[in-house]
Amino acid sequence: MTEDFIRMRYPTTCYNCGKLVDQEITASSSRSEVVCSNCGATRIFVPRFEEPASPGEFAPVECYDVWDLLSDATCKKCHVTGPHRLIIGCRNFSTHCENCDYTHFFRFDLEYIPDRDGPADTQ
Ligand SMILES: [Zn+2]
Ligand SMILES: [Zn+2]
Repeated sequence: MTEDFIRMRYPTTCYNCGKLVDQEITASSSRSEVVCSNCGATRIFVPRFEEPASPGEFAPVECYDVWDLLSDATCKKCHVTGPHRLIIGCRNFSTHCENCDYTHFFRFDLEYIPDRDGPADTQ
């Protein structure tokens, strides 16, 4: 399944356009995204559990504030709908079920910044 299991908005200062606007956050089992609702700057994270871990990976260096958020979602493991904690940094993205402690780790994969200026498109 490729369901969006978390979909939320978080207002914060965008690292790209510098405006205080909603960042649209979606997480599914195959990838997670953070998209600025103003400038469209997109960061994509992919699951990292398949990767051979190198020791340095466990000491992530974050380049700006780490977001620590809560959102209701249905856990893929225990199937309970309840609060999930999202920890989003510039290199890492994780979701944590508060019910069963199931944690899903993602790593930063790529960034996409639309080549446009001017006002935001509202969808
Ligand atoms: Zn922006
Ligand atoms: Zn759970």
